[in-house]
Amino acid sequence: MITLALNNGVEMPALGYGVFQTPADETQTAVAEALRVGYRHIDTAAAYFNEAGVGAAIAASDLPREDLFLETKVWVSDYGYDETLHAFDKASTKLGVEQLDLLILHQPAPSRWERVVAAYKALETLYADGKVRAIGVSNFMSDHLDRLLGETSIVPAVNQVEVHPYFQQPAVQAANAEHGILTQAWSPIGGITFYPGWGDGKRSTLEDATVAGIAATHGRTPAQVMLRWHLQQGRSAIPKSVAPSRIAENFAVFDFALTDDEIAAIDALDTGVRGGPDPEAPRDEWFDHVIPEA
Ligand code: NDP
Repeated sequence: MITLALNNGVEMPALGYGVFQTPADETQTAVAEALRVGYRHIDTAAAYFNEAGVGAAIAASDLPREDLFLETKVWVSDYGYDETLHAFDKASTKLGVEQLDLLILHQPAPSRWERVVAAYKALETLYADGKVRAIGVSNFMSDHLDRLLGETSIVPAVNQVEVHPYFQQPAVQAANAEHGILTQAWSPIGGITFYPGWGDGKRSTLEDATVAGIAATHGRTPAQVMLRWHLQQGRSAIPKSVAPSRIAENFAVFDFALTDDEIAAIDALDTGVRGGPDPEAPRDEWFDHVIPEA
């Protein structure tokens, strides 16, 4: 296990377990398996509609609360000061905990920027009140960070962004580093390049010849090589799987190391082509998605 110190000193397991697209009725079983394998950091979101399943797995486990690192995200329809304070209540109740380890804003939503700033100020209040141990953002580009830092007091601990071999966002990673913000990679093994409905017609990182060659050298899988690449560059990574074999495979990454040349070879695979939604583009329909009460 590798842990990373956030900019406020809080320690976070670098490798977490993500649950985007995990069906609500399968989430408890999947998270229970992840905890059994050894993951101690879970990444969910209000907009995944499965926080209650994560909470059920935590409640059923006999792990001490302090051994777990729980991260979730406020959806844009809950942006605004009072709305985001209430979003914490919804999330913490569904997760069955009094305190969250990391609460982040899911999207920058630049078309409704005042609500974004108000939401972040609510995170600052939750932090000051001890209800969350760290606060952060997701999908923020460099200019979003600059604007946020100019209007708020606490530097985000984490910026969770799309990072995999085919889309590495070096400018965002550099901006994060400059401000002392930890980069956390979503789709760390490139899920968005191949998962059904999103990856159609795209090249899959799992089938990349360079990654496969490095994997063969080490007797490992492409997913394991990509996760090592993140960890050795100091990023947090939160791979998702519902399959017990792949949940275990993605955690078995602490007993081998890539060479500098192998890391450079993966760095060279960046296409600059984003898989996920453009964080700058307005998506008004996102504000219509209602996050249910607990
Ligand atoms: P990942 O890179 O984690 O890939 C997940 C996909 O890969 C799934 O289809 C999974 O299928 C498959 N898979 C998992 N492990 C393996 C393996 N070892 N070999 C082959 N296939 C594998 O993509 P995600 O987009 O899910 O990202 C991970 C997490 O990041 C999410 O769960 C979520 O927590 C977060 N996220 C955040 C976003 C944001 O906007 N902040 C956006 C997207 C994700 P199967 O389950 O069948 O194994």
